[in-house]
Amino acid sequence: MTHITRRRFNRRLSEGLLGTAILAHSPLACAMGAKEREDRSLGIALVGLGSYSTYQLAPALQDTKFCHLAGIVTGTKAKEGIWASKHNIEEKNIYNYENFDSIAENENIDIVYVVLPNSMHAEFSIRATKAGKHVICEKPMAISVGECDEIIDACKKAGVKLGIGYRLHSEPYTQEIKKYVKEKTFGEVNYIMAEAAYRSRGNPGQWRLNKSLSGGGALVNMGVYSIQSAIYGTGENPVSVTAQEFSTRPEYFKDTDETITAQFEFPGGAMGNIFTSHNASANRLYASCTNGWFTLQPASTYIPLAGETSRGPIRFPNESQQKLQMDDFASHILNGTVNRAPGEMGKRDMIIVEAIYKSIAEGNRKISLDLGKLGLV
Ligand code: NAD
Repeated sequence: MTHITRRRFNRRLSEGLLGTAILAHSPLACAMGAKEREDRSLGIALVGLGSYSTYQLAPALQDTKFCHLAGIVTGTKAKEGIWASKHNIEEKNIYNYENFDSIAENENIDIVYVVLPNSMHAEFSIRATKAGKHVICEKPMAISVGECDEIIDACKKAGVKLGIGYRLHSEPYTQEIKKYVKEKTFGEVNYIMAEAAYRSRGNPGQWRLNKSLSGGGALVNMGVYSIQSAIYGTGENPVSVTAQEFSTRPEYFKDTDETITAQFEFPGGAMGNIFTSHNASANRLYASCTNGWFTLQPASTYIPLAGETSRGPIRFPNESQQKLQMDDFASHILNGTVNRAPGEMGKRDMIIVEAIYKSIAEGNRKISLDLGKLGLV
Protein backbone atom coordinates (compact mmCIF):
# COMPACT_ATOMS: atom_id res chain seq x y z
CA MET A 1 0.00 0.00 0.00
CA THR A 2 1.53 3.30 -1.04
CA HIS A 3 1.39 6.16 1.45
CA ILE A 4 -1.53 8.54 0.92
CA THR A 5 -1.53 12.00 2.46
CA ARG A 6 -4.57 13.45 4.24
CA ARG A 7 -4.86 16.09 1.55
CA ARG A 8 -4.80 13.62 -1.32
CA PHE A 9 -7.11 11.35 0.62
CA ASN A 10 -9.70 14.09 1.15
CA ARG A 11 -9.41 15.17 -2.46
CA ARG A 12 -10.08 11.65 -3.62
CA LEU A 13 -13.08 11.54 -1.29
CA SER A 14 -14.50 14.77 -2.69
CA GLU A 15 -13.86 13.57 -6.22
CA GLY A 16 -16.04 10.60 -5.36
CA LEU A 17 -13.18 8.21 -6.10
CA LEU A 18 -13.58 6.64 -2.69
CA GLY A 19 -16.99 5.82 -1.24
CA THR A 20 -17.31 6.11 2.49
CA ALA A 21 -19.47 2.99 2.51
CA ILE A 22 -16.56 0.90 1.30
CA LEU A 23 -14.02 3.02 3.07
CA ALA A 24 -14.52 1.66 6.56
CA HIS A 25 -13.74 -1.86 5.33
CA SER A 26 -11.21 -1.01 2.64
CA PRO A 27 -7.56 -2.05 2.73
CA LEU A 28 -6.77 1.70 2.71
CA ALA A 29 -8.65 2.26 5.96
CA CYS A 30 -7.01 -0.80 7.53
CA ALA A 31 -3.57 0.26 6.33
CA MET A 32 -4.00 3.74 7.83
CA GLY A 33 -4.85 2.29 11.23
CA ALA A 34 -7.07 3.75 13.96
CA LYS A 35 -4.36 6.04 15.35
CA GLU A 36 -3.65 7.71 12.01
CA ARG A 37 -7.36 8.16 11.29
CA GLU A 38 -7.87 9.99 14.58
CA ASP A 39 -4.96 12.29 13.84
CA ARG A 40 -6.58 13.59 10.69
CA SER A 41 -8.64 16.73 11.09
CA LEU A 42 -10.68 18.34 8.31
CA GLY A 43 -10.55 22.08 7.69
CA ILE A 44 -13.88 23.90 7.95
CA ALA A 45 -14.68 27.31 6.42
CA LEU A 46 -17.59 29.13 8.04
CA VAL A 47 -19.69 31.14 5.58
CA GLY A 48 -21.52 33.97 7.37
CA LEU A 49 -20.02 35.24 10.63
CA GLY A 50 -23.18 36.20 12.50
CA SER A 51 -24.21 35.23 15.99
CA TYR A 52 -24.36 31.45 15.48
CA SER A 53 -20.90 31.27 13.92
CA THR A 54 -19.43 33.70 16.46
CA TYR A 55 -20.87 32.39 19.71
CA GLN A 56 -21.46 28.69 19.00
CA LEU A 57 -19.62 27.23 16.02
CA ALA A 58 -16.23 28.95 16.28
CA PRO A 59 -15.86 28.22 20.02
CA ALA A 60 -16.99 24.61 19.46
CA LEU A 61 -14.37 24.21 16.71
CA GLN A 62 -11.64 24.75 19.30
CA ASP A 63 -12.55 21.42 20.90
CA THR A 64 -13.41 19.26 17.90
CA LYS A 65 -11.36 16.15 17.24
CA PHE A 66 -11.96 15.43 13.54
CA CYS A 67 -12.24 19.00 12.20
CA HIS A 68 -10.98 22.51 12.90
CA LEU A 69 -11.69 26.12 11.89
CA ALA A 70 -9.46 26.74 8.87
CA GLY A 71 -11.18 29.53 6.94
CA ILE A 72 -13.90 32.16 6.82
CA VAL A 73 -16.17 33.64 4.16
CA THR A 74 -17.64 37.03 5.03
CA GLY A 75 -19.31 39.96 3.34
CA THR A 76 -18.07 42.33 6.05
CA LYS A 77 -14.48 43.48 5.50
CA ALA A 78 -14.05 44.53 9.15
CA LYS A 79 -14.65 40.99 10.35
CA GLU A 80 -11.70 39.60 8.39
CA GLY A 81 -8.96 40.98 10.65
CA ILE A 82 -10.93 40.38 13.85
CA TRP A 83 -11.50 36.71 13.03
CA ALA A 84 -8.00 36.23 11.62
CA SER A 85 -6.33 37.36 14.83
CA LYS A 86 -8.83 35.77 17.21
CA HIS A 87 -8.82 32.37 15.50
CA ASN A 88 -5.39 32.40 13.91
CA ILE A 89 -6.73 32.18 10.35
CA GLU A 90 -4.25 32.55 7.52
CA GLU A 91 -4.96 35.32 5.02
CA LYS A 92 -5.11 32.86 2.13
CA ASN A 93 -8.06 31.15 3.87
CA ILE A 94 -10.19 34.32 4.02
CA TYR A 95 -12.83 34.88 1.34
CA ASN A 96 -15.69 37.22 0.58
CA TYR A 97 -18.94 36.36 -1.21
CA GLU A 98 -17.49 37.38 -4.60
CA ASN A 99 -14.20 35.46 -4.59
CA PHE A 100 -15.64 32.50 -2.65
CA ASP A 101 -15.55 30.17 -5.68
CA SER A 102 -11.74 30.26 -5.73
CA ILE A 103 -11.89 28.22 -2.50
CA ALA A 104 -11.78 25.29 -4.96
CA GLU A 105 -7.99 25.70 -5.11
CA ASN A 106 -7.57 25.81 -1.34
CA GLU A 107 -6.38 22.49 0.04
CA ASN A 108 -6.77 23.67 3.64
CA ILE A 109 -10.55 23.69 3.32
CA ASP A 110 -12.41 20.38 3.20
CA ILE A 111 -15.87 21.42 4.45
CA VAL A 112 -17.86 24.59 3.81
CA TYR A 113 -20.38 25.35 6.58
CA VAL A 114 -23.19 27.68 5.35
CA VAL A 115 -24.46 29.84 8.24
CA LEU A 116 -26.21 32.60 6.28
CA PRO A 117 -29.84 33.80 6.18
CA ASN A 118 -32.03 30.94 4.91
CA SER A 119 -32.60 32.28 1.40
CA MET A 120 -28.81 32.19 0.80
CA HIS A 121 -28.33 28.53 1.85
CA ALA A 122 -28.98 27.02 -1.58
CA GLU A 123 -26.73 29.40 -3.50
CA PHE A 124 -23.72 29.01 -1.21
CA SER A 125 -24.17 25.26 -0.69
CA ILE A 126 -24.25 24.72 -4.46
CA ARG A 127 -21.24 26.98 -5.04
CA ALA A 128 -19.38 24.97 -2.37
CA THR A 129 -20.15 21.70 -4.18
CA LYS A 130 -18.86 23.18 -7.43
CA ALA A 131 -15.62 23.95 -5.57
CA GLY A 132 -15.46 20.25 -4.62
CA LYS A 133 -16.08 20.86 -0.90
CA HIS A 134 -18.24 18.87 1.49
CA VAL A 135 -21.16 20.91 2.82
CA ILE A 136 -22.87 21.52 6.12
CA CYS A 137 -25.97 23.63 5.55
CA GLU A 138 -27.75 25.27 8.44
CA LYS A 139 -31.42 24.70 9.20
CA PRO A 140 -33.87 25.26 7.61
CA MET A 141 -32.06 23.62 4.70
CA ALA A 142 -33.48 26.14 2.19
CA ILE A 143 -36.65 28.10 1.56
CA SER A 144 -38.39 25.59 -0.72
CA VAL A 145 -38.42 21.87 -1.47
CA GLY A 146 -37.18 22.69 -4.97
CA GLU A 147 -34.06 24.35 -3.53
CA CYS A 148 -33.45 21.34 -1.25
CA ASP A 149 -33.52 19.11 -4.33
CA GLU A 150 -31.04 21.39 -6.10
CA ILE A 151 -28.60 21.16 -3.16
CA ILE A 152 -28.93 17.37 -2.92
CA ASP A 153 -28.44 16.97 -6.68
CA ALA A 154 -25.41 19.27 -6.68
CA CYS A 155 -23.77 17.26 -3.86
CA LYS A 156 -24.43 13.99 -5.70
CA LYS A 157 -23.02 15.38 -8.91
CA ALA A 158 -19.87 16.63 -7.20
CA GLY A 159 -19.47 13.46 -5.11
CA VAL A 160 -19.39 15.43 -1.85
CA LYS A 161 -21.11 14.81 1.48
CA LEU A 162 -24.00 16.91 2.77
CA GLY A 163 -25.08 17.42 6.37
CA ILE A 164 -27.77 19.69 7.83
CA GLY A 165 -27.02 21.69 11.00
CA TYR A 166 -29.45 19.59 13.06
CA ARG A 167 -27.11 19.44 16.07
CA LEU A 168 -29.60 17.51 18.26
CA HIS A 169 -29.01 14.24 16.43
CA SER A 170 -25.51 14.21 17.91
CA GLU A 171 -26.72 15.19 21.37
CA PRO A 172 -27.14 12.50 24.08
CA TYR A 173 -30.67 13.34 25.39
CA THR A 174 -32.05 13.24 21.87
CA GLN A 175 -30.21 10.01 21.13
CA GLU A 176 -31.70 8.53 24.30
CA ILE A 177 -35.21 9.46 23.12
CA LYS A 178 -34.50 7.85 19.75
CA LYS A 179 -33.36 4.73 21.60
CA TYR A 180 -36.57 4.57 23.71
CA VAL A 181 -38.60 4.80 20.52
CA LYS A 182 -36.56 2.18 18.66
CA GLU A 183 -36.49 -0.28 21.55
CA LYS A 184 -40.06 0.50 22.64
CA THR A 185 -38.80 1.05 26.19
CA PHE A 186 -42.15 2.59 27.18
CA GLY A 187 -44.23 0.68 24.64
CA GLU A 188 -45.84 2.30 21.63
CA VAL A 189 -46.02 6.10 21.42
CA ASN A 190 -49.70 7.18 21.36
CA TYR A 191 -49.25 10.91 21.54
CA ILE A 192 -46.36 13.28 20.91
CA MET A 193 -46.33 16.97 21.79
CA ALA A 194 -43.52 19.25 20.61
CA GLU A 195 -43.11 22.96 21.23
CA ALA A 196 -40.35 25.29 20.04
CA ALA A 197 -40.87 29.01 20.42
CA TYR A 198 -39.41 32.28 21.66
CA ARG A 199 -40.67 35.82 21.87
CA SER A 200 -39.15 38.00 19.18
CA ARG A 201 -38.74 41.70 19.90
CA GLY A 202 -36.38 44.47 18.94
CA ASN A 203 -35.26 45.24 15.43
CA PRO A 204 -38.27 44.89 13.09
CA GLY A 205 -35.80 45.05 10.18
CA GLN A 206 -34.04 41.78 11.14
CA TRP A 207 -33.80 39.19 8.34
CA ARG A 208 -35.88 36.63 10.24
CA LEU A 209 -38.91 38.93 9.83
CA ASN A 210 -38.25 39.45 6.11
CA LYS A 211 -39.80 36.64 4.10
CA SER A 212 -37.54 37.04 1.09
CA LEU A 213 -34.52 36.33 3.32
CA SER A 214 -36.06 33.90 5.81
CA GLY A 215 -38.57 32.00 3.68
CA GLY A 216 -41.10 32.20 6.53
CA GLY A 217 -41.52 33.04 10.18
CA ALA A 218 -41.66 30.97 13.36
CA LEU A 219 -42.36 27.80 11.41
CA VAL A 220 -39.13 27.77 9.38
CA ASN A 221 -37.04 29.09 12.27
CA MET A 222 -38.25 27.23 15.39
CA GLY A 223 -41.01 25.08 13.92
CA VAL A 224 -38.51 22.77 12.24
CA TYR A 225 -37.40 21.75 15.75
CA SER A 226 -40.97 20.77 16.70
CA ILE A 227 -41.33 18.86 13.44
CA GLN A 228 -38.04 17.10 14.19
CA SER A 229 -39.08 16.29 17.79
CA ALA A 230 -42.41 14.88 16.64
CA ILE A 231 -40.63 12.63 14.16
CA TYR A 232 -37.79 11.30 16.32
CA GLY A 233 -40.24 11.10 19.25
CA THR A 234 -42.34 8.60 17.29
CA GLY A 235 -39.70 7.18 14.94
CA GLU A 236 -42.03 7.76 11.97
CA ASN A 237 -42.80 10.31 9.31
CA PRO A 238 -46.33 11.75 9.50
CA VAL A 239 -48.92 10.71 6.93
CA SER A 240 -51.02 13.85 7.29
CA VAL A 241 -50.94 17.35 8.69
CA THR A 242 -53.63 19.88 9.61
CA ALA A 243 -52.48 23.36 10.62
CA GLN A 244 -53.66 26.67 12.09
CA GLU A 245 -52.07 30.14 12.23
CA PHE A 246 -52.55 32.82 14.90
CA SER A 247 -51.56 36.47 14.72
CA THR A 248 -51.67 38.88 17.67
CA ARG A 249 -48.94 41.39 16.71
CA PRO A 250 -49.51 41.97 12.99
CA GLU A 251 -47.79 45.37 13.17
CA TYR A 252 -44.50 43.60 14.11
CA PHE A 253 -44.95 40.39 12.10
CA LYS A 254 -45.81 42.17 8.84
CA ASP A 255 -44.28 39.62 6.52
CA THR A 256 -43.90 36.33 8.40
CA ASP A 257 -45.94 33.92 10.52
CA GLU A 258 -46.09 34.61 14.26
CA THR A 259 -47.65 31.44 15.74
CA ILE A 260 -48.57 28.11 14.17
CA THR A 261 -50.04 24.91 15.57
CA ALA A 262 -50.32 21.69 13.62
CA GLN A 263 -51.53 18.15 14.16
CA PHE A 264 -49.90 15.09 12.65
CA GLU A 265 -51.19 11.58 12.09
CA PHE A 266 -48.52 8.87 12.12
CA PRO A 267 -48.74 5.53 10.31
CA GLY A 268 -48.46 3.53 13.58
CA GLY A 269 -51.55 5.27 14.99
CA ALA A 270 -49.91 7.99 17.12
CA MET A 271 -51.08 11.56 16.85
CA GLY A 272 -48.90 14.62 17.29
CA ASN A 273 -49.43 18.22 18.19
CA ILE A 274 -46.82 20.88 17.49
CA PHE A 275 -46.64 24.52 18.53
CA THR A 276 -44.21 27.11 17.24
CA SER A 277 -44.15 30.83 17.77
CA HIS A 278 -42.10 34.02 17.64
CA ASN A 279 -44.43 35.45 20.28
CA ALA A 280 -44.17 33.06 23.26
CA SER A 281 -41.52 30.98 24.98
CA ALA A 282 -41.81 27.20 24.88
CA ASN A 283 -39.36 24.35 24.44
CA ARG A 284 -40.67 20.87 25.21
CA LEU A 285 -41.19 17.38 23.93
CA TYR A 286 -43.61 15.00 25.65
CA ALA A 287 -44.57 11.50 24.58
CA SER A 288 -47.34 9.42 26.10
CA CYS A 289 -46.79 5.71 25.50
CA THR A 290 -48.65 2.49 26.23
CA ASN A 291 -46.33 1.75 29.22
CA GLY A 292 -45.29 5.18 30.47
CA TRP A 293 -44.01 8.50 29.17
CA PHE A 294 -40.88 10.50 28.45
CA THR A 295 -40.25 14.21 28.22
CA LEU A 296 -37.48 16.71 27.45
CA GLN A 297 -37.60 20.30 28.68
CA PRO A 298 -35.79 22.09 27.20
CA ALA A 299 -35.86 19.84 24.17
CA SER A 300 -34.01 21.80 21.48
CA THR A 301 -32.02 24.66 22.99
CA TYR A 302 -28.28 24.61 23.23
CA ILE A 303 -28.29 25.35 26.89
CA PRO A 304 -28.14 21.81 28.24
CA LEU A 305 -31.26 19.71 27.72
CA ALA A 306 -33.06 18.06 30.63
CA GLY A 307 -35.33 15.06 30.63
CA GLU A 308 -37.50 12.76 32.67
CA THR A 309 -39.41 9.55 32.13
CA SER A 310 -42.10 7.66 34.01
CA ARG A 311 -39.20 5.63 35.45
CA GLY A 312 -37.04 8.55 36.59
CA PRO A 313 -34.78 11.34 35.38
CA ILE A 314 -32.54 11.26 32.29
CA ARG A 315 -29.04 12.59 32.99
CA PHE A 316 -26.04 13.12 30.72
CA PRO A 317 -22.93 15.25 31.15
CA ASN A 318 -23.00 18.58 29.38
CA GLU A 319 -21.02 18.85 26.15
CA SER A 320 -21.16 21.31 23.25
CA GLN A 321 -23.81 20.08 20.81
CA GLN A 322 -22.08 21.86 17.94
CA LYS A 323 -18.79 20.14 18.74
CA LEU A 324 -20.50 16.74 18.69
CA GLN A 325 -22.38 17.59 15.48
CA MET A 326 -19.34 18.79 13.51
CA ASP A 327 -17.21 15.89 14.72
CA ASP A 328 -19.94 13.46 13.69
CA PHE A 329 -20.05 14.93 10.20
CA ALA A 330 -16.25 14.96 9.84
CA SER A 331 -16.13 11.38 11.07
CA HIS A 332 -18.78 10.48 8.50
CA ILE A 333 -16.41 11.76 5.81
CA LEU A 334 -13.25 10.29 7.29
CA ASN A 335 -14.41 7.03 8.76
CA GLY A 336 -17.66 6.22 6.96
CA THR A 337 -19.75 6.54 10.14
CA VAL A 338 -23.45 7.36 9.81
CA ASN A 339 -24.52 10.76 8.51
CA ARG A 340 -26.85 11.71 11.37
CA ALA A 341 -28.55 14.60 9.53
CA PRO A 342 -28.39 14.07 5.76
CA GLY A 343 -29.85 16.38 3.12
CA GLU A 344 -32.91 14.15 2.76
CA MET A 345 -33.82 14.98 6.37
CA GLY A 346 -33.72 18.71 5.62
CA LYS A 347 -35.78 18.17 2.47
CA ARG A 348 -38.35 16.03 4.32
CA ASP A 349 -38.84 18.80 6.88
CA MET A 350 -39.28 21.37 4.11
CA ILE A 351 -41.95 19.16 2.52
CA ILE A 352 -43.78 19.22 5.87
CA VAL A 353 -43.29 22.99 6.22
CA GLU A 354 -44.82 23.51 2.77
CA ALA A 355 -47.73 21.18 3.66
CA ILE A 356 -48.38 23.18 6.85
CA TYR A 357 -48.49 26.47 4.92
CA LYS A 358 -50.77 24.80 2.36
CA SER A 359 -53.15 23.58 5.06
CA ILE A 360 -53.37 27.10 6.50
CA ALA A 361 -53.85 28.68 3.05
CA GLU A 362 -56.63 26.20 2.26
CA GLY A 363 -58.72 26.83 5.39
CA ASN A 364 -56.99 24.33 7.72
CA ARG A 365 -57.59 21.43 5.37
CA LYS A 366 -55.95 18.10 6.21
CA ILE A 367 -53.01 17.56 3.82
CA SER A 368 -51.86 14.01 3.09
CA LEU A 369 -48.14 13.30 3.11
CA ASP A 370 -46.38 10.49 1.32
CA LEU A 371 -42.89 10.59 2.83
CA GLY A 372 -42.19 6.90 3.32
CA LYS A 373 -38.94 6.69 5.27
CA LEU A 374 -37.43 9.87 3.76
CA GLY A 375 -34.89 11.42 6.12
CA LEU A 376 -35.33 8.88 8.93
CA VAL A 377 -31.94 8.10 10.48
P1 NAD B 1 -27.27 36.34 12.13
O1 NAD B 1 -28.22 37.37 11.70
O2 NAD B 1 -26.65 36.49 13.49
O3 NAD B 1 -26.07 36.22 11.08
C1 NAD B 1 -26.31 36.22 9.69
C2 NAD B 1 -25.02 36.47 8.97
O4 NAD B 1 -25.30 36.53 7.57
C3 NAD B 1 -24.35 37.78 9.35
O5 NAD B 1 -22.96 37.60 9.44
C4 NAD B 1 -24.67 38.71 8.18
O6 NAD B 1 -23.69 39.69 7.96
C5 NAD B 1 -24.71 37.72 7.03
N1 NAD B 1 -25.53 38.18 5.91
C6 NAD B 1 -25.17 38.10 4.62
N2 NAD B 1 -26.11 38.61 3.82
C7 NAD B 1 -27.09 39.06 4.62
C8 NAD B 1 -28.33 39.72 4.38
N3 NAD B 1 -28.75 39.99 3.13
N4 NAD B 1 -29.09 40.03 5.43
C9 NAD B 1 -28.71 39.73 6.69
N5 NAD B 1 -27.53 39.11 6.98
C10 NAD B 1 -26.73 38.78 5.96
O7 NAD B 1 -28.00 34.93 12.00
P2 NAD B 1 -27.64 33.57 12.73
O8 NAD B 1 -28.44 33.48 13.98
O9 NAD B 1 -26.19 33.41 12.81
O10 NAD B 1 -28.30 32.52 11.71
C11 NAD B 1 -27.66 32.14 10.51
C12 NAD B 1 -28.20 30.78 10.07
O11 NAD B 1 -27.91 29.82 11.07
C13 NAD B 1 -29.71 30.72 9.86
O12 NAD B 1 -30.01 29.87 8.79
C14 NAD B 1 -30.24 30.12 11.14
O13 NAD B 1 -31.46 29.42 10.98
C15 NAD B 1 -29.11 29.18 11.51
N6 NAD B 1 -29.02 28.95 12.95
C16 NAD B 1 -29.01 27.68 13.41
C17 NAD B 1 -28.94 27.42 14.74
C18 NAD B 1 -28.89 26.00 15.24
O14 NAD B 1 -29.04 25.79 16.44
N7 NAD B 1 -28.66 25.03 14.37
C19 NAD B 1 -28.89 28.48 15.66
C20 NAD B 1 -28.88 29.78 15.17
C21 NAD B 1 -28.96 30.01 13.81
